[in-house]
Amino acid sequence: MRTALTLTIIATSASLAQQPFYGDPPDANHPWAVHDRNRPQPPVITPAEFPRDEKPGTPPSDAIVLFDGTEASLQNWLRDKKPTEAITWEVVDGALQCKPKGGYIRTKENFGDVQLHVEWSAPTPPKGKSQGRGNSGVFLMGMAEVQILDNFQNPSYPDGSAGSLYGVNPPMANPLRAPGQWQSYDIIFRRPLHDDAGKLIDPGYMTVMVNGVLVQDHQPLEGGGGHKKRSVTKKFPNAGPLKLQDHGNPVRFRNIWLRELPPRNVEGGTQGKMSEEATLAQRDAIARDILDKAADKKGMERMTLLYESLTYAANPTAHQEADALADAFVAKLEASEGEALEAMKQNAIGLRNNLKYLVKHNRISAPEGNITKLQAVIDAQEWEPKK
Ligand code: MG
Repeated sequence: MRTALTLTIIATSASLAQQPFYGDPPDANHPWAVHDRNRPQPPVITPAEFPRDEKPGTPPSDAIVLFDGTEASLQNWLRDKKPTEAITWEVVDGALQCKPKGGYIRTKENFGDVQLHVEWSAPTPPKGKSQGRGNSGVFLMGMAEVQILDNFQNPSYPDGSAGSLYGVNPPMANPLRAPGQWQSYDIIFRRPLHDDAGKLIDPGYMTVMVNGVLVQDHQPLEGGGGHKKRSVTKKFPNAGPLKLQDHGNPVRFRNIWLRELPPRNVEGGTQGKMSEEATLAQRDAIARDILDKAADKKGMERMTLLYESLTYAANPTAHQEADALADAFVAKLEASEGEALEAMKQNAIGLRNNLKYLVKHNRISAPEGNITKLQAVIDAQEWEPKK
């Protein structure tokens, strides 16, 4: 009994959540209603698999794969300083191994803001100490280095440790495994943004997980760092190549992939709270889409879409036509009896609910007539349990 009741409640709330006129409507900073079904669905992707020491992870299905263990994926890379020559780094047992004196390598393609995954392994037995052991690096847009270093039981300066934003900020922890074992980096990179007048509007950020442990938390780039010199905030282009460093150590890499990130709201994105101007434009676009959907619809369906459009943008023409369709429905309801009347029950209750929502949220003016008339029929027919 309890199970059946619970199921009914779940089914009711699930079907309500499919409807417009449900959660709080759009406002000055949110172009979508709460629980809005007109909001684009997140794309469905197959997730990444986590790596284990003997086995690389796999990229998620929407990733741009830069190295997958094959010779073929070397075509994604160029010698940084001599881009017309083939890279001298080698594929050894499915890993891309840095060739000392082979120079930095960089991707052929340019990227801006990304989520980046890299797995790497330092040479074993370890040779050298401090910055001389297992040193490489991941350069986002070729400009900001997340340090790769074998500082497992090998201290060096903190802002040059593995997972540091090199020369800017040390990692919050040292979760490294021993040399020879595989380490994973997951990096979220946002480049600095300037407006047309050259004013900084977003400093750019780096978030880094080393072996699943957070070591950089939305860390401002401060220009991206560098060796010995205090870096200062500077302009980045819109995109640049990903670079891997040759620091003279045969560090190995595997399973390198990235996903390009959607724009931030200051550059036209639509996440969370938006500017009033962008919200208005987005609300207008959603209302237009709904009106397009209404174009070949008639009667109740058309009326509902016209009213729905009003939750996003005022539109006297749509408002007037929706009211006329509502008037016609109510007149027909009042003139019907028996089975014909019963067949209109769900639509009558639905319209009453929608009109009350629109009045409550100031999308239409006070309920002259139709809400009262609908309620009178609903009460006379005892279509709803008495409260
Ligand atoms: Mg380095």
